[in-house]
Amino acid sequence: MISDEIDRNLEALAEENLLRRRRIVSSPCTVMAEVDGNPMLTFSSNDYLGLAAHPALAEAAAEAARQWGVGSGGSHVVTGHMMPHEMLEEALADFVGAPRALYFSTGYMANTGIVPALVGRGDAVFSDRLNHASLIDAVQLSRAENVRYRHNDMDHLAALLKDSQAKRKLILTDGVFSMDGDVAPLPALAELAEAHDAWLVVDDAHGFGILGHEGRGTLSHFGIPVTSRVIYIGTLGKAAGVSGAFVAGTDPVVEWLLQRTRTYTFTTASSPIITATLLKSLELIRKGSLLRARLFSLIERLRMGLSQSRWELLPSPTAIQPVIIGSNEEALRVSQALSDMGIFVPAIRPPTVPKGSARLRISLSTGHNDEHIDRLTDALKGLA
Ligand SMILES: *Cc1c(COP(=O)(O)O)cnc(C)c1O
Repeated sequence: MISDEIDRNLEALAEENLLRRRRIVSSPCTVMAEVDGNPMLTFSSNDYLGLAAHPALAEAAAEAARQWGVGSGGSHVVTGHMMPHEMLEEALADFVGAPRALYFSTGYMANTGIVPALVGRGDAVFSDRLNHASLIDAVQLSRAENVRYRHNDMDHLAALLKDSQAKRKLILTDGVFSMDGDVAPLPALAELAEAHDAWLVVDDAHGFGILGHEGRGTLSHFGIPVTSRVIYIGTLGKAAGVSGAFVAGTDPVVEWLLQRTRTYTFTTASSPIITATLLKSLELIRKGSLLRARLFSLIERLRMGLSQSRWELLPSPTAIQPVIIGSNEEALRVSQALSDMGIFVPAIRPPTVPKGSARLRISLSTGHNDEHIDRLTDALKGLA
C-alpha cells in the first residue's frame, strides 16, 4: 500500500534522531515559561526584545479588537486592506527609510512570493548556502536557476556572477543568518549587485529591531539605502514580538510586487488586531535603545562565560549564539541534560542546518538577566 512507505519513512527519521516533537507551552512567551508542564528557563524564542507578552502590546491588541473587530474579511486587493494595515505599511516604510512597504502575513509568504515576482525561467538567483529554508523554497518556486555561493564568500559570488549568462540576476541573502547569528557583508553584496546589474534582496528576519540606528535593521547598520535594486524584507514575529513581515523598496518596485506577488493577492489579509498591535510594537522598538544595549551586554556576558570552556560559540555578534555539537544524537543529549536542569535550549538538526553541524541554538532576550546567563553557563560547564 502506498501509505506503508510513510511508516518506513517515519521509522527512518526516528533512527536518525531527526523526529521533531512539539512541546506545549502553557504560559505566555517569556524567558520563564511553562513547557510541557514544567517551569523552564528558556533560551529558545526569537522574542529578542521581550515584546511577545508585553502588556502595552496586549492592551493595543484588546483595543484594536474592540475598534476593528477580529477579521479582515478578504484579500488586500479586494476589501481586506484596512486602515491599520495601511498605517502599518506607512510606518514600516518610514522606519526603514524606504519610499514604500508592503505587509505580508508571514515571512515565509513574503519570501516565497517576492522572488517569483522578480525572476523566472532564464534568470538566475545567487543564494548564500546558509540562507533560510523559505528563501530556498522561493527560488524553486520562481523556476530561476539556483546558483549557490559559499557562505559569505564574496570572491566565490563574484566569480559566479561573472560566469553567468542569465537574463536577470538576483542576489539573495539573510541579513543575520538564522542558525549561525553572523551578519552578511552587505556593503560588498551591494557593490556586486551594482557591478552586475543584479537585484539584492535581503531577508533581515533577525536583524530588524536589533541592529542599526533605533533597530532599523542590517541595511541601516551598514548605512546602505534602499534603492531601485535593493529590496529589504523584515519579519515581525521575531524582535517585533507579533507576526507577519514586510518588504520595503522604491515606489515602482513595491507597486510591481503588489500587482504580481501571489502570496499577497491570493490570501486573506491578516487580522487588523495584528497590524494595529504592530504599530505599537514599532513604537517600542524605536524607543528601545536601552533594551538593545541590555541585549548586547547579555550577549557579551554569555560569550565571556563560555570563553574558557569546551563549548565553542560561533563568532556571532547577535542574539543568536550557537554552540556547534556535530552529531544529532549528541546535540539531543546535551539539550536533554539541560532540560533536566530546568533550562530549555533547542537542539537544531538537519535539514535546518547542514549535516554534521547539529547545534544548540542559544537565543537571548532582554527578558533574561545576568543570573539567567550564569545559570546557563554554569550548567554547560558542569556538563563538559
Ligand atoms: C523566521 C524566518 C523567516 C520566516 O518568517 P516567518 O514570519 O516566521 O514566516 C524567514 N527568513 C528568516 C531568515 C527567518 O529566520
